[in-house]
Amino acid sequence: MTEVTVDRTTAAVKARVRRGLALYRSRGEEIVPKTFGGFSVPSSTYEDRSYRVCLLSGRCGCEDHRRTSRACLHIYAATIAAAKGREGR
Ligand SMILES: [Zn+2]
Repeated sequence: MTEVTVDRTTAAVKARVRRGLALYRSRGEEIVPKTFGGFSVPSSTYEDRSYRVCLLSGRCGCEDHRRTSRACLHIYAATIAAAKGREGR
């Protein structure tokens, strides 16, 4: 029973990492560094929407993060952008 739960969690994390990487690859130019570890990250669903991610607190303004309190795809996409050296100027 416990193992099933762990597997599901792992699958959910992997799915978010995958979607975060896909978002970084397709719309990485729109991931904009802000002050204090913040990033503006485009929505993967809505063309005209973007979310504010804070890497210092590990928070995002999207529904997924608000609902689950877990790292969402925007947080992963911002993490990738930061790791690639696009952190705040
Ligand atoms: Zn998010």
